[in-house]
Amino acid sequence: MSILITGGAGYIGSHTCVEMLAAGYEVVVIDNLSNGSKLAIERVEQITGKSVRFYNADVRNKEALCRIFEENSIDAVVHFAGYKAIGESVKEPLMYYENNIVNTLTLLEVMREFGVKKMVFSSSASVYGKSEAMPVSEDAPLCAISPYGRTKLFIEEMLRDLYASDNSWCMALLRYFNPVGAHQSGMIGEAPKEIPNNLMPYISQVAVGKLEHLNVFGNDYNTSDGTGSRDYIHVVDLAKGHVKAVEWTMSESGCEAFNLGTGKGTTVMELRDAFVRTNGVDIPYVVTSRRPGDCDVLYACADKARSELNWQAQLSIEDMCRDTWNWQKNNPDGYEK
Ligand code: NAD
Ligand code: UDP
Repeated sequence: MSILITGGAGYIGSHTCVEMLAAGYEVVVIDNLSNGSKLAIERVEQITGKSVRFYNADVRNKEALCRIFEENSIDAVVHFAGYKAIGESVKEPLMYYENNIVNTLTLLEVMREFGVKKMVFSSSASVYGKSEAMPVSEDAPLCAISPYGRTKLFIEEMLRDLYASDNSWCMALLRYFNPVGAHQSGMIGEAPKEIPNNLMPYISQVAVGKLEHLNVFGNDYNTSDGTGSRDYIHVVDLAKGHVKAVEWTMSESGCEAFNLGTGKGTTVMELRDAFVRTNGVDIPYVVTSRRPGDCDVLYACADKARSELNWQAQLSIEDMCRDTWNWQKNNPDGYEK
């Protein structure tokens, strides 16, 4: 069976290519390399000893997409392609609506034209906005607070509307919590092109000496040590969740959201301390003010993915810290050099 992976040269996409190939699927990737790297695809091929059919093209380009569907017998699509930086989406909302929404619309039109009606979509825990009850389950109220989060919410609604109009579609909306870590080989990982906004890549760039110290955004939150708590999930566990979700689309019809998280919260200081302990490196830090829009605690109820997708996260915070560092120290400049 052939799976089209949009955004497969990116962080989560490249790890998902590895797990899909390992599970015996053929993989076709479309990526415009706006934030991904061709080297990531080459390394996926080295890790797995299998080949990936790669198209350097934009998902908004309907002709290019049609050509891919004509040249390959695609059974299902895993859709990662899109922009993902919350802060940038506040400054450039139209760029986010244009890329994330238009590319999904174009993709769905082409899928319908070719009779491919199985999709796994990268949604995000940011669709929950400021949720009060923890752990947060899939039926919690939805309310995104950034343009980025709203693109995810709108796409989820689009997919639900499409399913309501035609029950032969099957779509899994995967709401990721905080993906971190890298493949155990140290050959693929997260490669931010600018100063990272997220905690784990920031910590690992401090460790490798690219950044001076970690800024801890507030220590007066309602948590055990006062720093914000999130549900960090190893990217390899996350990638395996996509294999399970593709299998689910093959045997079901429906449009369902699934949380992909561990169900456990870890604070900023707990993550920083685990990184220091696991890797034997120092991470100097300074406590600064809160980052606007941040909540105290966010972690998943992952029961639905366990019972319906037969998926559960396996890897620990220590695994996440070890694999992040292994990738970072071997590739201090990501895929650049
Ligand atoms: P990424 O930027 O590493 O990967 C996205 C890939 O899509 C990149 O390789 C980029 O070049 C490509 N791309 C973007 N627009 C494209 C277009 N129009 N046509 C073709 N290719 C295009 O990001 P990631 O961290 O791997 O995230 C993948 C998906 O998961 C995104 O949709 C993101 O919103 C979602 N997500 C990520 C996180 C996270 O923390 N990383 C959390 C929740 C959800
Ligand atoms: N955080 C921090 N310093 C940083 C980046 C993040 O203290 O340089 C904190 C942030 O306030 C939050 C947690 O780390 O409590 C996770 O932030 P991240 O941006 O990684 O994920 P998100 O906020 O999207 O869940």
